[in-house]
Amino acid sequence: MSPRVKNFIWRICRNCIPTRMRLRDKWVNCDIVCSLCNSEEEDTLHLFFHCPSSCSVWSMWEGYSSIYAILSQDYDSKTIVFKILQVLAAEDAAAFCCILWSIWKQRNDKVWNKVTDANTFVLSRAKDSLHEWKLASNLQQTDFVPRQ
Ligand SMILES: [Zn+2]
Repeated sequence: MSPRVKNFIWRICRNCIPTRMRLRDKWVNCDIVCSLCNSEEEDTLHLFFHCPSSCSVWSMWEGYSSIYAILSQDYDSKTIVFKILQVLAAEDAAAFCCILWSIWKQRNDKVWNKVTDANTFVLSRAKDSLHEWKLASNLQQTDFVPRQ
């Protein structure tokens, strides 16, 4: 998995993703309603796992049947991430992490660029980024590319 995505997952588990609730906790005076659904408070658990928008992304993913039972439990986001990474095979676990990253990007596109990424696009962007990273890391392993 790319270092960028790894770092992002670590931040989810440490609860240091700057969601609106997190900003409010730090005394930033901002709206606390979820940027994606505009109905509930935007914390990590809601944004990535309970928001209807994100749920729709998860339900379109082939790995959904393996994680559905975990998502429907009353866990915190760190527990959800750990449990899901335990049940998924390496390939699916990497895809899962890239989808989380892509959901966060969707949220930021909406907040900062006023662009609403379609949920199908959120899923395909996650898969593309995983694919690109794999191609790049395969290239580095061939003898034709000199090591830096
Ligand atoms: Zn929401």
